Amino acid sequence: MQTHYNFNSGPAPLSNDVYHEAAQSLFNYNNSGLSILEISHRAPQITSMIEESAELTRSLLRLPSSKHVLFLHGGASTQFCMIPLNFLHKQNIGHYAVTGQWAANALHEASLLGNTRTLCSSADGNFSYLPILQNEYKLDENDYVHFTSNNTIYGTQWQSFPSFTCPLMIDMSSDIFSKPLPTNNFSLIYAGAQKNIGAAGVCMVIIDDVLLSRRNKNISTMLDYFTHVKHKSAFNTPPVFAIYTCYINLKWLAKQGGVEAMETVNKEKANALYNEIERNALFKCTVQHADHRSQMNVTFTAITAHAEEVFKKQCEKHNIVGINGYRTVGGFRVSLYNAITLEQVNYLIDIMKETERMF
Ligand code: PMP
Repeated sequence: MQTHYNFNSGPAPLSNDVYHEAAQSLFNYNNSGLSILEISHRAPQITSMIEESAELTRSLLRLPSSKHVLFLHGGASTQFCMIPLNFLHKQNIGHYAVTGQWAANALHEASLLGNTRTLCSSADGNFSYLPILQNEYKLDENDYVHFTSNNTIYGTQWQSFPSFTCPLMIDMSSDIFSKPLPTNNFSLIYAGAQKNIGAAGVCMVIIDDVLLSRRNKNISTMLDYFTHVKHKSAFNTPPVFAIYTCYINLKWLAKQGGVEAMETVNKEKANALYNEIERNALFKCTVQHADHRSQMNVTFTAITAHAEEVFKKQCEKHNIVGINGYRTVGGFRVSLYNAITLEQVNYLIDIMKETERMF
């Protein structure tokens, strides 16, 4: 039984229902008399669980049949290199929207493998805003564009995406399943599981059939998307237990009313917290433009070092954890993924109010 209010940015909390089911399956998976950890990944009950996880994703995100859902090893960071390996093999260019550290990492990996350009960047403002796209920016249909939909470290989130004349690849690690997606706009979506999908150790990739046909066919088998499409995410031993946590978490999500229901609650949670930061004399939002603010990762600072210290102590005393800003940024970051309830956010807000009264 957890005893803390955990607002970590990832790995992040999942619902208790998910933990119970996962714990049960460690002892006896689906009444098989075996732990899920000791069953072959080729056994029908495991291959069907992986396929059902893909189906659940498909139905929750209303994906058309042209999209393949994969569960891969290597986290989102491996996608930073798999994308250019597969799709930056001619004289084409990968255009990157550099809106945070993860986006910069994605660009760096691509630049090691092919031609890249910066589509837009907010590095000059320490990624505290979303840059404007230049109208005259030139793209070739063989190029691709790469976005990070939610900048986990800095607390900014794109609310919509322009359409491009070339494929759009998107890192949705920290906001997938938090709201409905315009799935047709994206040729490739990827997301590390450890925030809104399941346990760490697996990365979800959603890839379009048309894009797949354009890939480089002369690359290592494990790094070729087609390998994993062909073998339904089980070319080699997949991270079965991590995928299983995705499976039960996606079932939980469907039971809550799916991404539409999540969007409503996520908005409520984020609005409540942003309103309190704006109201409370001790705190300041890191992201000034309200339209650029993330609904998933709320970043803020205290007005003085003393106020920061007092608030940290208050949180410790009241069992609130995971609110420190990213190690290179400082301040505070409260992550509001799907499993975080409005009650938990209100509890944190009460502690913020109580801290203010101490001054
Ligand atoms: N992209 C984003 C937006 C992230 O927040 C993170 C951190 N979880 C990553 C990529 C890197 O993910 P991973 O640790 O799974 O490689």
